[in-house]
Amino acid sequence: MGVITDVLFDLDNTLYTPESGVMGRIKLLIHRWMAENLNLSEEEAETLRLAYLDRYGTTFRGLQLNYGIDPAEFLHFVHNPWVLEGLKSDPVLRQALLAVDAKRFIFTNSSRTHAERVIERLGLTGCFDDVIDIAMFDYVSKPAPIAYEVALHYVGVPAKQCLFAEDSVRNLVPAKQLGMYTLLVGQTIAPDGVADMAIPRLSAIAKVWPRFQQMAAQGDHYSGK
Ligand SMILES: [Mg+2]
Repeated sequence: MGVITDVLFDLDNTLYTPESGVMGRIKLLIHRWMAENLNLSEEEAETLRLAYLDRYGTTFRGLQLNYGIDPAEFLHFVHNPWVLEGLKSDPVLRQALLAVDAKRFIFTNSSRTHAERVIERLGLTGCFDDVIDIAMFDYVSKPAPIAYEVALHYVGVPAKQCLFAEDSVRNLVPAKQLGMYTLLVGQTIAPDGVADMAIPRLSAIAKVWPRFQQMAAQGDHYSGK
């Protein structure tokens, strides 16, 4: 009889929806940073940003490996508080998160400062035990497996006791391979072998949470095994 004791939540486009425009504003700042520091045109910056995103999981990781940028300085620039303009308190999400009776952690490719600002803007203060941010896994972005190993080590429980909720299918793959339960956020169809379930918005987690605990009790992974 298993039980899920810890839930990891991605931050960006998981706690809030893509429609909030936050990631669009971060993208603008990435472009500005690349234009100013690498002397690239808008078009060149976009081509490089997409190539790095595809190859390394984040633009940031590509910039770090190829240009040796200072991670903290770059993240400070792109995580300007302005990017969170328009994010509003989400009491429905707050209630849903509190219904998940487990330890709750943020597990993000963003900085802790950005994560804490998002949590505050959404009115989710007190909903999370801690933030596992990119600095804690040495700026190696998800989906690099080491990021998940660091997160698991930090929460201190085996993968089979963890649920990971994420909007990126690619970032769910290593979690599933390690044996975590996986929840795809922002979609309605769970890809076989990667996500156990899918929900259109994170606030729906309260509905599927009992089913995850049922699966754990039965020692059952819908997919992957
Ligand atoms: Mg995300």
